[in-house]
Amino acid sequence: MIELDGAQGEGGGQILRSALTLSMITGQPFRMINIRANRPKPGLMRQHLAAVQASARISGADVSGAEAGSLALRFAPGPIRGGDYAFAIGTAGSCTLVLQTLLPALLHADGPATISISGGTHNSMAPPLHFLQRAYGRVLGEMGARIDIQLKRFGFYPAGGGEVLASIAPCAQLRPFELLERGARRHGYAESFIAGVPANVATRELAVIGSGMGWTDEQLLHRGLPGEQGPGNALLLTLDHEHVTEVFAGFGEKAVRAETVAKHVLQEARAYLASGAAVGEHLADQLMLPMALAGGGCFTTNVLSSHATTNAGVISRFLPVRFHFEHMADKIYCQLNSAHQL
Ligand code: ATP
Repeated sequence: MIELDGAQGEGGGQILRSALTLSMITGQPFRMINIRANRPKPGLMRQHLAAVQASARISGADVSGAEAGSLALRFAPGPIRGGDYAFAIGTAGSCTLVLQTLLPALLHADGPATISISGGTHNSMAPPLHFLQRAYGRVLGEMGARIDIQLKRFGFYPAGGGEVLASIAPCAQLRPFELLERGARRHGYAESFIAGVPANVATRELAVIGSGMGWTDEQLLHRGLPGEQGPGNALLLTLDHEHVTEVFAGFGEKAVRAETVAKHVLQEARAYLASGAAVGEHLADQLMLPMALAGGGCFTTNVLSSHATTNAGVISRFLPVRFHFEHMADKIYCQLNSAHQL
């Protein structure tokens, strides 16, 4: 039984989600205390509980402590089964984080799987669905995974009601990747999605991105959604490079000016572009688990977050791997060393 302390490092929900995924794949049970200890409301929130329940379902796990607010959990998985699954988070809790918990595990299932998840699809502090499709999904595809992720309906905080459908084919062995350079820019564009909020929110956000990036109108896309999918607004800036795609996101909020939302997105994208890194802050922490499953690989990132270093710690409790980080002039180099290299 692997014993984990959810207060370590970042002390958030990712420690739990990585533990669930790795426990299912390796078959090693774990016990976790102090779940999300560093968050204002510690313990299992709806999204985390949904991730635990969905993981238990696909792996026939024996679980205790899976209740709202629980600070401790014991999880003992069985074999991962393919099939058709549907999970409802019930609030605007992030569909993408639940999906990301299940996806690598279902690559190890005994057959193909489809998963439908309802909840939030574009939430702050989580990957927007387009990020999973374009950024995370692209790397997994290049590692040999056959995954299709579709957005059926947007779900914004606080109403939720979004819907995501994913299909995953088994792929027991991912290929390592090397993402040291992003390569030449193939395409860059920004999209402002709005549902049930005034159209000028999108116009103003896109104007900031347009002047900041020097982009033409063709690169600034106003995506109006049916009002019943809102209220909500997501601004996505996508940079498609030869070797990697990055998606930078901002979310409209009451009492936050559209220009402010757009400026934050712009700053994040510019910092990435100014560095020589291939991978941005969020993709960096999310690629570590697939990289460990592949047993090798390396990337460069412009930000090494505490999410990433914490994830490195959790991963090496389940798999015989170590992450090596090296600070360079304008980026951080991350390399995975597996057992035989240690
Ligand atoms: P809590 O921290 O409250 O427990 P949580 O369960 O949402 O919340 P975190 O541990 O904060 O989990 O992990 C959030 C994940 O979402 C991280 O992998 C982070 O990289 C990712 N993420 C956050 N914002 C973005 C973004 N704008 N684009 C892509 N990924 C993001």
